[in-house]
Amino acid sequence: MADGMRETRGILRHCLFLTLTLAVVPGCAPPPDAPQASGTPRLEWAIAIQAGAGVISRSVDEANRQEHLDSLGKALAIGQRILQDGGTSLDAVEQVLIYIEDDPRFNAGRGAVYNHDGGHELDASIMDGSNHACGAVAGLTTVKNPIALARDVMEKSPHVLLAGAGAERFADEMGVERVTQEYFHTEHRLRQWQEMLRREADPDAPGTAGAVALDRHVNLAAGTSTGGLTDKRFEQIGDSPIIGAGTYADNATCAVSGTGKGEEYIRFAVGHRISALMAYGGRSLQDAAEEVILRTLREGDGGIVGVDRDGNIAMVFNTEGMFRGAADSSGRFEVAIWK
Ligand code: ASP
Repeated sequence: MADGMRETRGILRHCLFLTLTLAVVPGCAPPPDAPQASGTPRLEWAIAIQAGAGVISRSVDEANRQEHLDSLGKALAIGQRILQDGGTSLDAVEQVLIYIEDDPRFNAGRGAVYNHDGGHELDASIMDGSNHACGAVAGLTTVKNPIALARDVMEKSPHVLLAGAGAERFADEMGVERVTQEYFHTEHRLRQWQEMLRREADPDAPGTAGAVALDRHVNLAAGTSTGGLTDKRFEQIGDSPIIGAGTYADNATCAVSGTGKGEEYIRFAVGHRISALMAYGGRSLQDAAEEVILRTLREGDGGIVGVDRDGNIAMVFNTEGMFRGAADSSGRFEVAIWK
């Protein structure tokens, strides 16, 4: 009975999407291979990733810097392969983020920071730009890859955001891979937390992981995953699992993933604001992203990666650096940390 209902709902959703697509596309959406208004050719696929923005010291040793860049390059190559082969932007975003979640260097999945109680709570979200479908999870404690569970919320539940114990019960039903809290232990995160306690500093964010992609089917997707703030208390949740703040995707405009001070990203609905500037203000992705990150937020708040339906990529940040990478069908493939 429940399965039957779900299937019916799925069919209805599919029909709704077809209806919307037919209603919107004729006469207004140019074919994928038509040139952009600017005369630059449209790209068949494009992907941008981020793995955190902030004070990233330039004096970091060469080996450490290279390890981070290599890891970003490997993550980017996963997305590149999927998109090159005609895979979906959703798959590219999810697989790239699973790779970063499994890498202890970044604050997502395995490398998640310590909270005030010495544990780890993880958040993630994903959005499909073709139909506004989205899913998010917050405060997970035993799920190895939060981005995969966020996708399950999107595709296998009628909900958008599940948190805490409820999200863990949903994970039981989905059968996703589980781990103990020890899995998230890393020496560098422990030292970071202890140092913060010693200095009695405010909870701080050493990053997040995010990906945005355009596929050959001209669909956009965005996803974000994080361990949140070091030393966070009271089950605080930032912007990463908040659709419209840390993650947003709409085929009509762009896909965006943010990293930085979560509360600011929620206050200013950063992801949606960039999309709205494009939709209602006719701004380009780069211009809209600069408006929000450089002129609406304050210096030091963070950054975003974004891609539009023509394959234009924006990587804008108001911090010293942002771990990032971009690749597209023209042969572009680059990773960087500082400006
Ligand atoms: N935005 C993330 C959060 O608030 C943290 C970060 O990106 O550094 O949880």
